[in-house]
Amino acid sequence: MPGFEAFGELEKKQVQDVLDNGVLMRYGFDGMRNGHWKAKELEEAVANRMQTSFCHTVSSGTAALTVALASAGIGAGDEVIMPTFTFVASFESIIALGAVPILVDVDDTLTLKPEAVEKAIGPKTKVVMPVHMCGSMANLEALKSICKKHNLLLLEDACQAIGGSYNGKPLGSIGDLGCFSFDFVKTVTCGEGGAVITNNQDFYENAHMYSDHGHDHIGNDRGGEAHPFLGYNFRISELNAAVGCAQVNRLDEFVGIQKRNYTILREALSKIEGITFRRVPEGGEENHSFLNFFLPSEELAREAHKNLGQAGVDACFYWYDNNWHYYRKWEHLIQKVALGKLPEAVLDQLPDYSKSDFSESDHWVGRNISCLIKLGWPEEEVRERAKTMFTTLSKITK
Ligand SMILES: *Cc1c(COP(=O)(O)O)cnc(C)c1O
Repeated sequence: MPGFEAFGELEKKQVQDVLDNGVLMRYGFDGMRNGHWKAKELEEAVANRMQTSFCHTVSSGTAALTVALASAGIGAGDEVIMPTFTFVASFESIIALGAVPILVDVDDTLTLKPEAVEKAIGPKTKVVMPVHMCGSMANLEALKSICKKHNLLLLEDACQAIGGSYNGKPLGSIGDLGCFSFDFVKTVTCGEGGAVITNNQDFYENAHMYSDHGHDHIGNDRGGEAHPFLGYNFRISELNAAVGCAQVNRLDEFVGIQKRNYTILREALSKIEGITFRRVPEGGEENHSFLNFFLPSEELAREAHKNLGQAGVDACFYWYDNNWHYYRKWEHLIQKVALGKLPEAVLDQLPDYSKSDFSESDHWVGRNISCLIKLGWPEEEVRERAKTMFTTLSKITK
């Protein structure tokens, strides 16, 4: 998945443009920039590739989620439904706005289970946030109709899924809002960066103002701008955006290499009885950044993870025991620990997750192994890897 594997001349050339004129900021300094507006250029490229009317880039994927929620008017006490399996950024962005993350189960897609979403909807629910973990999606048709029925917003966290699609549409472009991360380990990288995409002009206007202190960005060279509402600073720098300008044009090349490598590994593993694969909903196409499969039991999954590591197959994850990606290890959220006092609404409304029953999530995530697909592997190396994985996993499932 990592775009950093492909960092090279194209990225350097883009960064050099910025260094040559010295304008590292995305707004203002119109006379000095020599026509270089890297953040704007990146936004146009992303909106174009994602077939949305608008894109606003920010300093990280976490910032993108926060800005997306804020742009839709989400604030204190509003509830956002999100999965038990995701990166911690999902609930961080919600809590940052004083809103409340409501965790629900994932199914064999490893992302939101639509029936569990519907059950969790209450009078304060405003948003459903599916997270396209490891490059694949939930049943978005089902989630869309639930959102329509209950008048909720659909916000796609597509931070790990750039380049994937659903019913022919790019992931991220299907909900009311979509978010990408361009951090150092994502498919497309800026070093640090993120983007919000939408077809809703109000959300877009709110997003660019909110992420720059509420400045309205009317007029040239930043003179006398008004502040229609309170904002914050989530700006991306021109240096970071420049890297993204080179990378985003290579997205289809990256996804193509990932698909080749993924397919070789999957074909080898599909010959092993006892191994099943993550379900991709009908109409979905992964971005092939990870290969996800299930072992028959939690015990065997742990053994598989250990043995793969010992056999030298790196970059395979057992998320169930991982500190960052699964609710079981989010002790700070479960115990409601912040540096200062949390907003009242969060303290009052946040469920006691130490008592929650997420046995369905445990059932799937507890048996899952997730292998990162790299761009830099020559085909020969992928075939060797496939052989080693086949041998190692065949022994376990016998
Ligand atoms: C990486 C990631 C984020 C956060 O992105 P950053 O750019 O690292 O802030 C959010 N959600 C998911 C699912 C991610 O993988």
